[in-house]
Amino acid sequence: MKPQSRPHHYAPRRRGGGVRYLLAGSAGIVCVVVCLALLFHLWPTAVRAGELPEDTSSSQGESSTSSLNQITVTPTAEPSLSPEERPWYLRLVNKDNPLPQDFTVELTQVYGGQFDSRAADALSQMLEDMEEQGLSPMICSSFRTWDDQAALHQDKIDRLLAEGYSQEEAETEANRWVVPAGTSEHELGLAVDIVSSEYQILEEEQENTPEQQWLMEHCQEYGFILRYPEDKQDLTGVGYEPWHYRYVGVEAAQEIMAQGICLEEYLS
Ligand SMILES: [Zn+2]
Repeated sequence: MKPQSRPHHYAPRRRGGGVRYLLAGSAGIVCVVVCLALLFHLWPTAVRAGELPEDTSSSQGESSTSSLNQITVTPTAEPSLSPEERPWYLRLVNKDNPLPQDFTVELTQVYGGQFDSRAADALSQMLEDMEEQGLSPMICSSFRTWDDQAALHQDKIDRLLAEGYSQEEAETEANRWVVPAGTSEHELGLAVDIVSSEYQILEEEQENTPEQQWLMEHCQEYGFILRYPEDKQDLTGVGYEPWHYRYVGVEAAQEIMAQGICLEEYLS
């Protein structure tokens, strides 16, 4: 069977192959001619197309570079998390992210104030360490209920009205300092106003007390951040408060304070 199959296989193949090569060769020549014609016809377009990326890259160079920069500048762990996925200590509360009126949290007494029990140890440790350094920190405000906040907000508006502000002006100005109920993170139980017991006035000069100087340098070691920095008022919607500290956990606090960003930026 083997000798039979061998010639039958090879002979027809060779003959058929010859015809095919001829056809293929002709087709190939035609194809090359057509391709050359096409290439010649399309050459200017191809050149233009080749130039296009360079032209556009020169005009878009800045934006593509800055988007690269953004990626490298904000490599942090949590920002991509949605509000529901964030841990409790990274909950964002501001005018765009209010708390529900029935929000509740377990509280612990710390230095005369009330604080979220889960972060109370961090706060008391920070204050104890300050005292060990000879400083005298004092909590002047910590957890507030919805009603506390509503009363403070209305009080601020009333005082501004008494100073001659219009209703609209008074509300706008009040919102910068004592935000409406539901939008203050004091209601979250994770914010605390700390002043020097030697200087208890809530004004910008508070930043010059040894207590604030120490806090601005060390708060992140305990998981706290200076929540409303002077240069972030447009983003936080709140005026500069060198006495207001917010617990966000050590990892986020280290990153936020090192980068000089605010919580809104960190979580965006
Ligand atoms: Zn505060």
